[in-house]
Amino acid sequence: MTYEELLELGETVGTQSRGLSQEQISLLPISKYKRGFFSRRKSRDERCVICQMEYKRGDRRMTLPCNHMYHAGCGAKWLCINKACPICYTEVFVDASKRVKSNH
Ligand SMILES: [Zn+2]
Ligand SMILES: [Zn+2]
Repeated sequence: MTYEELLELGETVGTQSRGLSQEQISLLPISKYKRGFFSRRKSRDERCVICQMEYKRGDRRMTLPCNHMYHAGCGAKWLCINKACPICYTEVFVDASKRVKSNH
């Protein structure tokens, strides 16, 4: 799916949000990509399925609870539209209670 198609999909879905809120998305863990010692073989994990680009060193990646990874930016755009993981269709559930509470 291209980015344009993704945006179109978002428009047809409309404002009735089926995705996550920005706040929920911000709770997902982000890590920087660095090529691991064991990644001599090319695996599917080496590229982001949303934009089809290979990860570059230093790219920020978002890890979903199902352990699939995407660029932080691509994942955020996707999850705004659809809260299911684009690879395994597992719904992303964000536990908002993990958030540090500051109301005291
Ligand atoms: Zn991407
Ligand atoms: Zn997944």
